[in-house]
Amino acid sequence: MQKLVPGIHRFQSQIVQPNQDFFERLAGEQTPMAMFITCSDSRVNPNLLTQTDPGELFVVRNVGNVIPPEGTSNNGEAAAIEFAIEGLGIRDIIVCGHTHCGAMKGLLDPSSLRTMTHVRKWLRHAEATQQIVQENYRHLSGEARLTAAAEENVLVQIKHLQTMPSVAAALGRGELNVYGWMYKIDTGEVFQYDWNEKQFQPLVATVASS
Ligand SMILES: [Zn+2]
Repeated sequence: MQKLVPGIHRFQSQIVQPNQDFFERLAGEQTPMAMFITCSDSRVNPNLLTQTDPGELFVVRNVGNVIPPEGTSNNGEAAAIEFAIEGLGIRDIIVCGHTHCGAMKGLLDPSSLRTMTHVRKWLRHAEATQQIVQENYRHLSGEARLTAAAEENVLVQIKHLQTMPSVAAALGRGELNVYGWMYKIDTGEVFQYDWNEKQFQPLVATVASS
């Protein structure tokens, strides 16, 4: 807390006050350009890595960037996704995983979650990821296996996303794009899943602006 409170004072004096018009306009409405679903991990900062301002990204974060499938009760992620599409008219949804993900570590080594009942229950929505890694990535170990899990998990969660009626309908109308991203903490690089090549490719400026 010793850092947070002075931070708020600095934010008000150095950011808000010199940009009063911007913040007053923000108070009127939000018109975010995209929805960004990512992990709670403190090293992943959606606005920093996309260099966006308040009001530009509609963000959902949770342990392991998980999207519980349609039919899950009390699905807060589904509520946010539905609101993004129906309420805010968002047409781009990004599901972003990351390297060195603690949730993926737990998924690959469930014994490490022994005392974490809620995490264990939550990660049931990533059971398919676990099985994909177990069956298809036997040859990998350590960091490579963990990264494969994070990448596969992005694809599994995108499949869950597509089970939602509002998403399916918007995709059917051609009014929604869904992207799978992978953020590499060590280098700041972002990779995007290429559905044709079936692999994550470096996200270059030409792709980002298309
Ligand atoms: Zn994570």
